[in-house]
Amino acid sequence: MSEEKSHNFIEEIIENDLKEGKYKSIVTRFPPEPNGYLHIGHATSIWLNFGVAKKYGGYTNLRFDDTNPATEETEYVESIKEDVKWLGYEWKNEHFASDYFEQLYEFAVRLIKKGLAYVDDSTSEEIAAMKGTPTEPGKDSPFRGRSIEENLRLFEEMRAGKYPDGARVLRAKVDMASHNMIMRDPVLYRIKHAHHHRTGDQWCIYPMYDMAHPPSDSIEEVTHSLCTMEFIPHRELYDWLLENIESFPSHQYEFARRNLSYTVMSKRKLLQLVQDGYVESWDDPRMPTISGMRRRGYTPEAIRDFCERIGVAKRDNLVDVGLLEFCVREHLNKVALRRMVVFDPLKVVLTNYTGAVEMLEGEENPEDENSGSREIPFGRELYIEREDFMENPPKKFFRLFPGGMVRLKHAYIIRCDEAVKDENGNITELHCTYIPESKSGSDTSGINVKGTLHWVEVTNAITAEVRLYDRLFKVEDPSNEEGDFKDYVNTESLQTLSAAYAEPSLKNARLNERYQFLRKGYFTLDNKDTYSRLVFNRTVTLKDAWAKEQKKG
Ligand code: ATP
Ligand code: MG
Repeated sequence: MSEEKSHNFIEEIIENDLKEGKYKSIVTRFPPEPNGYLHIGHATSIWLNFGVAKKYGGYTNLRFDDTNPATEETEYVESIKEDVKWLGYEWKNEHFASDYFEQLYEFAVRLIKKGLAYVDDSTSEEIAAMKGTPTEPGKDSPFRGRSIEENLRLFEEMRAGKYPDGARVLRAKVDMASHNMIMRDPVLYRIKHAHHHRTGDQWCIYPMYDMAHPPSDSIEEVTHSLCTMEFIPHRELYDWLLENIESFPSHQYEFARRNLSYTVMSKRKLLQLVQDGYVESWDDPRMPTISGMRRRGYTPEAIRDFCERIGVAKRDNLVDVGLLEFCVREHLNKVALRRMVVFDPLKVVLTNYTGAVEMLEGEENPEDENSGSREIPFGRELYIEREDFMENPPKKFFRLFPGGMVRLKHAYIIRCDEAVKDENGNITELHCTYIPESKSGSDTSGINVKGTLHWVEVTNAITAEVRLYDRLFKVEDPSNEEGDFKDYVNTESLQTLSAAYAEPSLKNARLNERYQFLRKGYFTLDNKDTYSRLVFNRTVTLKDAWAKEQKKG
């Protein structure tokens, strides 16, 4: 295989444009609407927009597409900026489409003056009825023939607040018989007496997407305006507008939306999950949002790797969440510090261990030779995982059972002598013998054992809350199922262990560190609830337990 990464079709277009001298340098933009938090679908768009601009020596603007006053909030603006930065990208300029309202208004006036836009008094129902169908041409509105002077006056009055919501619109005068329905005199401006999160009450007319987006690209001299496939029919209008307002010739290119299995991706749906209490917040670790993934312990490196692996496509598809988790494991394996934590403790008493607690050494991360080591206390009383002991084990059970031997990680080989029970027959503790010459690193015992267990010394153990997450939905593609997507929420997607027993080095756990709890998975401190106590989120299991479960059926 060649070292050179293969080009995607967007890169091919850009290289061609540069070769032909169409543009001197590349400008892209990432244009989120601030009506929700960014999700993993947005990450692919961010990766693409920022990635290609950087690759070809250009830059990317962050532009908030805030032309809809009803749904946008400053909280969303802040979260979007935080998420883009966290993903590792830097924008050149920060813009708001609302900053262009005056210029967009001037562009609209320019169209009116050219006889290319008119004020229509029809209701939205009437306009829809006159649109025609894909096989039948539309009908001209009775207001289509208005004079330029009248249109200019009415549009000015619309701006001045003379008319109520819905009374009039401004439409482009294109072609009511076009095969492209979008070209049948699209609405450019509507009246909406609404407070806007940035312009306040300054405006009561707002541009529609088609009047806002292409001219905003053009004002910023964006060369390649990359958007998702549903905008293909809009491309003709995009070109028509920029040509007629005689502004910088930006061009639109489309790529496929990326969806992820076992979740939903639309902000509208994610908002419902928050509002209806299915999750705690936008950054709930089960959410497919960037902030949720950050809180869960995903790394920007892993998310970028995921975007790189799926690349860009021309057809929308559902990407297996298993691929994202694979990328997360790949990265965490390299950076996570190894720790021992027991979730469901069973006490082990080493009856022949009579000394004080001793300090053993454990590597921080076997994948990183510079990571050093940590001290782990070892003593007479330990916790092991209850499921690591069986009184009557099946064949090939390599963990602990009466008469059996295992190695305790970083410590000694032990032999189980007796399971002590209470009056109800429940096992309360194990009495074991440890083999002093079997210490890890200087083992002279000559004993070979198959199983290695994690453990924690009782008197030095600290407790922590551990949150285990599962898929948020029970089906692969909840948006494609019958009925409401919320009917498919996995109600068992969060399991909380209020007190797991952890080795004491975790007392100093830090937010930006990642941990592998041996045999348990990858974990990180929760970034909200850790201030009062230690709370760890499971980022991902060590192996794909879900796929295994599914196979078992
Ligand atoms: P949603 O339906 O989630 O609200 P949107 O397209 O309305 O998505 P925007 O804020 O308008 O969200 O999107 C900003 C940019 O991110 C757009 O260029 C959009 O095409 C892109 N984008 C959004 N969702 C995805 C996705 N699932 N895959 C790829 N790109 C996406
Ligand atoms: Mg949108």
